[in-house]
Amino acid sequence: MRKAQYKFHLSDFISEDDFKIIKDFSKDKETPFLIIDLSKVEEMYDELVRNMPYVKIYYAVKANPLDEIISALRDKGSNFDAATVYEIGQLLRLGVSPERISYGNTIKKEKDIAYAYQNGIRLFATDSESDLLKIARNAPDSKVFFRLLTESDGADWPLSRKFGAHPDMIYELILQAKELGLDPYGLSFHVGSQQRDIGQWDNALSKCKYLFEAVGLQGIELKMINLGGGFPAKYVSPANELETYAHEILRFIKEDFGDNHPEIIIEPGRSLTADAGVIVTEVIMISKKAKLNQYKWVYLDIGKFGGLIETLDESIKYPIYSESKGFEEEVILAGPTCDSMDILYERYKYTLPMGLKENERLFIFTAGAYTQSYSSVAFNGFPSLKAYVI
Ligand SMILES: *Cc1c(COP(=O)(O)O)cnc(C)c1O
Repeated sequence: MRKAQYKFHLSDFISEDDFKIIKDFSKDKETPFLIIDLSKVEEMYDELVRNMPYVKIYYAVKANPLDEIISALRDKGSNFDAATVYEIGQLLRLGVSPERISYGNTIKKEKDIAYAYQNGIRLFATDSESDLLKIARNAPDSKVFFRLLTESDGADWPLSRKFGAHPDMIYELILQAKELGLDPYGLSFHVGSQQRDIGQWDNALSKCKYLFEAVGLQGIELKMINLGGGFPAKYVSPANELETYAHEILRFIKEDFGDNHPEIIIEPGRSLTADAGVIVTEVIMISKKAKLNQYKWVYLDIGKFGGLIETLDESIKYPIYSESKGFEEEVILAGPTCDSMDILYERYKYTLPMGLKENERLFIFTAGAYTQSYSSVAFNGFPSLKAYVI
């Protein structure tokens, strides 16, 4: 059976009025650049609060660390998950109080833990004995949550293997934390980013339940579960609505823990910022490799190194829009650098109008997460991706 061809509909991503605003704003600006609609970030935050009312939100700063986004979420009452002392420094500079910050990276230098502690941070993630000992030495009495290994099956951008430890290991670490004078506070996991299979949260939650009970028998009462990120944004391949995620996940929690459930934390990154961003890019060149080749190559002024690194293995498929009308053809899309890996989509064929011209602008939707902060500093001399907040 032939798979139904994906058809882009502008109205799935933006209203006509908002698109006009984007176009007017970008008219005399040099491409490529990212435009962030801050009100959309705020809307996504509100929607999350509405759907998961008792859950505490820690925005994963790495998804998009723009000051404006941090400040808007700060004003909304969000908490923040920081990966490094640099992010912690930024959060403090923007007036986020340290009680609202978790240090969520399990890979930390000893002196960075000390810096966080001296600045008032008391909530740390860990997944190894080495890191736990560093926390005990530099952040006494702090709350520690332990990251469980998950498989990331069903995720477009998996995070598996690098982070987390097996439940048996986590069990040992929890007992050890107590002996070290730390507060073994809870468990965390991340099911993989852009996770399409909601059942993955159920699998991870049952591991949590098992551990809550196992350490409970040793007199340790864990108080929190951190469900990580993995919530969806709107790319080419469809995912369920956020509402469905929230509904199902809250149901899993109820099934495993009843009404007397532990404190629940989530760390959304992608789902808060991706849909708020549009990248405006220009077609540099259209060519064919041989006269009879079926596919044209369309080279854009943004590629893997300019901010679209999540096209690695064609994992994330951004919705791409051309204003040209008429019949469409399948093309190969590539970036502008002199690196042969800088091809965006070759296996998966995007369709663009046959009349597409060089110098024409294309609009890449759902580009607000993991783009600008990933763009290289000066590979091939290209500046890193500009961002405008409207
Ligand atoms: C990256 C990351 C997140 C954010 O994940 P999304 O899928 O973008 O929501 C959350 N928590 C941790 C620990 C992360 O590393």
